[in-house]
Amino acid sequence: MNSAIGYKEAEVVIAGAGPGGALAAIAAGRMGAKVLLIDQLGFPGGMFSGGNMSVTNCWPWAGIGKEIFDRLKARGAAISHPNDPPNYPLFHFGAYSWRNVPYDPEAAKLVLFEILQEAGVSLLLHSYVTGAIMEGNQVRGVVVENKSGRQVICGKVICDGTADGDVAAPPVRSSSKVKTRVTAPESCSR
Ligand SMILES: Cc1cc2nc3c(=O)[nH]c(=O)nc-3n(C[C@H](O)[C@H](O)[C@H](O)COP(=O)(O)OP(=O)(O)OC[C@H]3O[C@@H](n4cnc5c(N)ncnc54)[C@H](O)[C@@H]3O)c2cc1C
Repeated sequence: MNSAIGYKEAEVVIAGAGPGGALAAIAAGRMGAKVLLIDQLGFPGGMFSGGNMSVTNCWPWAGIGKEIFDRLKARGAAISHPNDPPNYPLFHFGAYSWRNVPYDPEAAKLVLFEILQEAGVSLLLHSYVTGAIMEGNQVRGVVVENKSGRQVICGKVICDGTADGDVAAPPVRSSSKVKTRVTAPESCSR
């Protein structure tokens, strides 16, 4: 493993490419920001694509969520109403299940890759965010570990989309999952 510490910069650095992180990245990318989206997995979508979910609780009526489901439907990978055959029996198994929207999570990965690419978002996958670079009380960057070694990645805006607060949470937790906060000598300058 390379022991050198690499350095990268982006305007917007987003840790976690689940629905929260990925959609924030798409929105920022479309507004012209230079966005770097980081995930420990090899694909975007988090639980939405990689968690074996195959149904969401309602059809998104607007925004990027709707775009994703429109694209899934166009590929035959989602249905807009559970009464659409052949899924009727599958989605009438419980209270409120008539609202559910079945989709193919593997196709969701492809659709997210496509939309992220169109929005000009850079991806750093198979990369674990292990710490935050602090200046006073402000997060200025993240520390990332992957096959290339350890990297410090700084940004003007740092977003935590890890769903666990891995970047934003206080440095010391009562569990065994204690995160070390790094104040790098090469602290990110604004
Ligand atoms: C068991 C379960 C079943 C669910 N079923 C449904 C359902 O049927 N329908 C429905 O609509 N919703 C369901 N949900 C809810 C839905 O999954 C969440 O609301 C949604 O995924 C939250 O999105 P998120 O982006 O906040 O987090 P996540 O989807 O969890 O994404 C977080 C991302 O951050 C990455 N990450 C985390 N830590 C790090 C780190 N340190 N470094 C790098 N990357 C990191 C993860 O790999 C992941 O890609 C379910 C949730 C669970 C847990």
